Amino acid sequence: MSTPRRHIVVMKFGGTSVEDAAAIRRTTAIVAGRMRKGLSPIVVVSAMAKVTDTLLAAAAAAGRNAREEALQLSHGLRARHLNAAADLISNSAADGGRLTALQLQIQHEFDTLDDLLRGIAAVGELTARSSDNVVSFGERISSLLVTSVFADHSIPSTHVDARTVILTDNHYGKAAPQESAIEAALTEQILPLIDLNRVPVMGGFIGSCNGITTTLGRGGSDYTGALVGGGLHAGAIEIWTDVDGIMTTDPRIVPEALRVKTISFEEAAELAYFGAKVLHPATILPAVQKNIPVYVLNSRNPENEGTRITATPPPCASPFKSIAAKRKLTIIDIVASRMLLAHGFLKSIFDVFDKYECAIDMVSTSEISVSLTVDSREALPAICAELGKIADVKYEGNKALICLVGEDIRGQAGISGQVFSSISHINVRMISQGASEINMSFMINEEDVDEALRSLHRKFFSNPDPNIFDVAAGPPSTNPSSD
Ligand code: ADP
Ligand code: ASP
Ligand code: MG
Repeated sequence: MSTPRRHIVVMKFGGTSVEDAAAIRRTTAIVAGRMRKGLSPIVVVSAMAKVTDTLLAAAAAAGRNAREEALQLSHGLRARHLNAAADLISNSAADGGRLTALQLQIQHEFDTLDDLLRGIAAVGELTARSSDNVVSFGERISSLLVTSVFADHSIPSTHVDARTVILTDNHYGKAAPQESAIEAALTEQILPLIDLNRVPVMGGFIGSCNGITTTLGRGGSDYTGALVGGGLHAGAIEIWTDVDGIMTTDPRIVPEALRVKTISFEEAAELAYFGAKVLHPATILPAVQKNIPVYVLNSRNPENEGTRITATPPPCASPFKSIAAKRKLTIIDIVASRMLLAHGFLKSIFDVFDKYECAIDMVSTSEISVSLTVDSREALPAICAELGKIADVKYEGNKALICLVGEDIRGQAGISGQVFSSISHINVRMISQGASEINMSFMINEEDVDEALRSLHRKFFSNPDPNIFDVAAGPPSTNPSSD
């Protein structure tokens, strides 16, 4: 294994950490603080909060010929970025016209975006490839803005186009990174900047395949941070967001949620996969491979020590570390009365899902039936039509999965009794304890999620272990307005 470069810290700032001039000032101060400690930051930024949603809306509008609507959305974004630039950067002669240069860059990017939207509107069809191109502008422009602001605050910074570093396959919308090619690109482009004591700044989420822009999937900037940290064997990866760390549950739903001080890679991965939006599910892998600690930190409260995700956290007296909820799921019931789950039956079912690239979250089987949950509805009619040839199929939407995660549930008798008695007023369907033995999950109706989280949180976190949870903190700082 490569030798760790302990001085390198990859700092990923999410949308709320760059959402406006005030947030970018805070981010700049946080990066300057790391440099004062003798560390070499590499900065990965998301698009400004909500920009990705707006770009997707603009792309969709263009795709249905609504050209003016698409351009109007782009116009609003242009004004927002130009205003932030003017607010953040001085335009004195001494700085060589930095503001003017940045404004020209921003105008150029938006001109290119508008041409693209006009082109999509002319054809009246939005492909996954064009959608990735449109949506990439959020990170392309935020990273240019942040680079200039750093320079304006005496942080020697260099913009790196993430698309020349994050090389992927051509699976538009959710491209898979090619790790060895990324490692080579990082070594060639980023390390020389570090050696010159410069701070490389790049957009998260975006990459390219043979020069064509791709994206890593929603929330993918975390993944970029981990790929950069993993590829360079950094000393740490910091995920800067708008909450104090990984919390015992989503603090927007349960304001009493507590910060989890330390959590294992496995626990964090399960939580992310099962719906805790605070981390992208793929983030953990590159860090695990090189045993790089990941910290989740609050850019609105940078003094807080956040959550440390490591290979070996201390034991915890409470059975669970956190509870996640994943909404917008569909349960599919497949009844195989004709075949009584004959040999090869399950394989033929999974083959159909595979063919439509539809990921399955949970499976439960009985003698004659199989129930599955999926989170995408687009392919369902086609999938069900195909499954209908071998079984009776029906599906039901508006479901949610609740997942309780904790390494310390291993071998604890009676734990499921405690879980289900605390939510006995809620209708539960499909229960599973994953093979990893560190999660317990079950399905409920979407409308019951908030109540289930509140009841479970009361039950399992009323008497939290102070070694693991921040019991002294009181209500955590959150920003209810973020996306
Ligand atoms: P960013 O834009 O910084 O990537 P996200 O919005 O993707 O931030 O993720 C942070 C949000 O995740 C928080 O504002 C919080 O509402 C939500 N969240 C869900 N579950 C959790 C959890 N267990 N701990 C912390 N935050 C959570
Ligand atoms: N901007 C992208 C999104 O909103 C990626 C990210 O923020 O992580 O999904
Ligand atoms: Mg995120």
